[in-house]
Amino acid sequence: MSKKSKKLTTGVATLVAPASHAAIVPVRDRHLRFNERWNYSPAPEVHTDIKIQPRYDLFIGGKFVKPSSGKYFPSINPATEKQHAEIAQGTAADVDKAVKAARRAYEKTWGKMPGRERGKYLFRIARLLQEKMRDLAVIESLDGGKTIRESRNIDLPLVAAHFFYHAGWADKLDYAFPGRKPQPLGVAGQIIPWNFPLLMAAWKLAPALACGNTCVLKPAETTSVTAMHLAEILAEADLPEGVVNIVTGFGDTGAAIVNHPDIDKLAFTGSTEVGKIIAKSVAGTRKKLTLELGGKAANIICEDAPIDQAIEGIIQGIYFNQGHVCCAGSRLFVQESIVEPVIRRLRNRLSTLRVGDPLDKNTDIGAINSREQLGKIREMVESGKKEGAELFQPACKLPSKGFFFAPSFFTGVTDSHRIAQEEIFGPVLSVMTFRTPEEALERANNTPYGLSAGVWTDKGSKVFKLATQLRAGVIWAETYNKFDPASPFGGYKESGFGREGGKQGLLSYLKLG
Ligand code: NAP
Ligand code: MG
Repeated sequence: MSKKSKKLTTGVATLVAPASHAAIVPVRDRHLRFNERWNYSPAPEVHTDIKIQPRYDLFIGGKFVKPSSGKYFPSINPATEKQHAEIAQGTAADVDKAVKAARRAYEKTWGKMPGRERGKYLFRIARLLQEKMRDLAVIESLDGGKTIRESRNIDLPLVAAHFFYHAGWADKLDYAFPGRKPQPLGVAGQIIPWNFPLLMAAWKLAPALACGNTCVLKPAETTSVTAMHLAEILAEADLPEGVVNIVTGFGDTGAAIVNHPDIDKLAFTGSTEVGKIIAKSVAGTRKKLTLELGGKAANIICEDAPIDQAIEGIIQGIYFNQGHVCCAGSRLFVQESIVEPVIRRLRNRLSTLRVGDPLDKNTDIGAINSREQLGKIREMVESGKKEGAELFQPACKLPSKGFFFAPSFFTGVTDSHRIAQEEIFGPVLSVMTFRTPEEALERANNTPYGLSAGVWTDKGSKVFKLATQLRAGVIWAETYNKFDPASPFGGYKESGFGREGGKQGLLSYLKLG
């Protein structure tokens, strides 16, 4: 047989298998051993028709206004490192203007409006989001680095679903809490991170508005562009002026919202570090607070689990979305008797993951959101190596420009390693082993966090036992990272408090008379 590779064309993909092996390896194993050679032709999403504006202003009182500082900061595409827009740098004076606009809107229109009328606006926003979904997904990927597959198939449908779901609640709040009289809180200050930019905005705005509150929202500095496109949608939906105000900027802009005396409610999603600062600032004030913070989720695979399915769950849980997920299953606990097949399959599957252009529909892992975040991931991986854990990374060519990190996992990890304790927030998994479910449970709970967890076993009774004892706000069984607006989401311990989504999430934006 010739030494040259033989190309098998299969419609969408080309399997390049070395001819010397092709004849002797059974088809299934051939998949496992050579799937790293599946090469797809590029399939980039066309985006020449989609315009990112060169400059975005603040959205206050229903109008786009210049920041009082007159300053703008660059927003870059993390896959190319090229600047594609300038974002207004909001100051404390701009935040004050936004809070005043929100207060006026609360007192004059939104706070008094019957729920059925508020619901109509929310339905209108949801429909406009649906109409513009493709454009928004592309912009989300260009601005934040996440894959188009993720932004198109997960983020945007969920964004619209959150508005639809909460539109449905707007006129039914009295029935949600029988015998009680639900009332809005007033002006909500909302601060969000960069990992799900538009989805986090939807998580914050939709329930607040459904409950009759008005909002001042601050997106993360690296991902403000889609929030400003959302502002355009709000204006197009004729949402009364001042009901939603969006002030872009840095951490100090967020702090100005936190410390503004006329804010009634604060909702923050981001790091535990900033969450603690906010909790201290708010202590002793009348402001109601909810915090959605970091996580270090345990994904537990028992020996009776369907392994192939579990491997897909792991991939979904930590590698898709570049590991930029607070509830990522970043600690993998594998029962000792199945360690060998799990590790083998994990290596094989990692070798098939494609890292690169976020706008290519075949890309599994896009760009890391920022240079700073890439630096944090690299530093954590170095610490893992120094502490004695063993790193696996498939041979994979990263693009020469942009912020990229190869999918990786560590074995030989102990509970005391930093990579087992601290959030990495990148496509890096720490694999550990356990002997009994009781041991898995104890070690899974041995963390300051408690946002989420995963359980894989063939036995419903075992799922029930583990799920009821895991100290985490969300537990997935036989799946991972699935979201629904009707399902409450939130943490235990240092992962925060309060819930978003579902009926429970409404309580974060209401007082019950
Ligand atoms: P971050 O630094 O805490 O930032 C979150 C938001 O807070 C950003 O808008 C940020 O502005 C702003 N901010 C920074 N300092 C502030 C301050 N002193 N006062 C008020 N606001 C301030 O977090 P990140 O790096 O953007 O996001 C990653 C973290 O978020 C991870 O730890 C992750 O686990 C967590 N997260 C949690 C959830 C959840 O639902 N539990 C969801 C997503 C992310 P700048 O962008 O200008 O810094
Ligand atoms: Mg950006």
